[in-house]
Amino acid sequence: MVNSVFGNTGTSVFETMSRLAAEHRAINLGQGFPEGIEAAEVIAAAEEALRTGPHQYPPTLGLPALRQAVAETNRRFWGIEVDWQSEVLVTSGATEALADCFFGLLEPGDEVLVFQPAYDSYGVILRRAGAVPVPVRLEPPQWELPRQRILDAITPRTRAILLNTPMNPNGKVFTREELEFLAGLLERHDLIAVCDEVYEHLTFDGRNHLPLMALPEARGRCLRIGSAGKTFSVTGWKVGYVTASAERLAPVARAHQYLTFATPPHLQAAVAFGLGLGDHYFAGLQSILQEHRDFLETGLREHGFSTLECGGTYFLCLDIGDLDPGSDDFAFCRRLVAESGVAAVPVSTFYGERDMRRLIRLCFAK
Ligand code: PMP
Ligand code: GLN
Repeated sequence: MVNSVFGNTGTSVFETMSRLAAEHRAINLGQGFPEGIEAAEVIAAAEEALRTGPHQYPPTLGLPALRQAVAETNRRFWGIEVDWQSEVLVTSGATEALADCFFGLLEPGDEVLVFQPAYDSYGVILRRAGAVPVPVRLEPPQWELPRQRILDAITPRTRAILLNTPMNPNGKVFTREELEFLAGLLERHDLIAVCDEVYEHLTFDGRNHLPLMALPEARGRCLRIGSAGKTFSVTGWKVGYVTASAERLAPVARAHQYLTFATPPHLQAAVAFGLGLGDHYFAGLQSILQEHRDFLETGLREHGFSTLECGGTYFLCLDIGDLDPGSDDFAFCRRLVAESGVAAVPVSTFYGERDMRRLIRLCFAK
């Protein structure tokens, strides 16, 4: 007996590439996790919290200290006023937050617009929730918002838009004009937006992340998801948070209650501390990652490789079209890890149909 959604998925490409990297003792630029830039003061806070406790179930919505910190962060960075008691939920990572939103808000048959390239958990969890992911493709190299395609994709069954900015794997940071267009659609078509903003603090070259939720007309229709894993370079911690109006958040909190109920309290305490760090921490993270991006980008370009623009996230995409006329990104990544000792991620994995095969993704947060 097997569920038809999970039964039809294989092992995640991120896991596969990390396994291959270990097997070949390769440099792992595949799976998106940082190395060597973990936030030491936040780890020290977790150690302290582990020593002093408490060690029992925290409140299902999250520790008050962390919910307050998330609310304050919304105000401090994005100008969004949030009631910490009714508008913030702590989850076990952004992955759980996404699942909570889909399970808590959608009914079978509801359609959700998903921009491609799309992070791998979106389609699977949407389908398991009974919803129908409707892909809307962004085209390289600029990845502009395809306004007409979006309009064409909306039907009477469309309930939600899933937006990831800054965007994995292409490093796109959506502009104010693009977000304003989306905000207009939410109102006009009575939609909600699930906003995956795990890379909210990782933008480069003076670009500013703008949450869709920061636009007043979209405030009540957005569920904004963040991840301490990205913000403090501790991806294994799996601490996420959702900010939304009380009315939208309540069913999401119910789903969370029955999926994980709560998230380890010492990690929550440490993240609450981390979100309160001064601007130097957040500016420092940006500048380290920007240096890493520049190092990788410059090196690759000097060697004649063709890279795409990266405005945020951990990732730089490389066009392998000229190197591999057959352009099979999976085969290319398998050869690269075995023969050159570098693990990467094939970008076609972010498309259901494997028809975008000329890009590979390299993680520079190392
Ligand atoms: N969304 C995107 C776009 C991601 O790249 C990731 C990967 N870390 C996640 C969600 C999941 O985040 P978390 O580890 O907090 O579950
Ligand atoms: N978000 C990470 C990436 O894009 C992977 C997380 C995971 O392995 N599930 O590489």
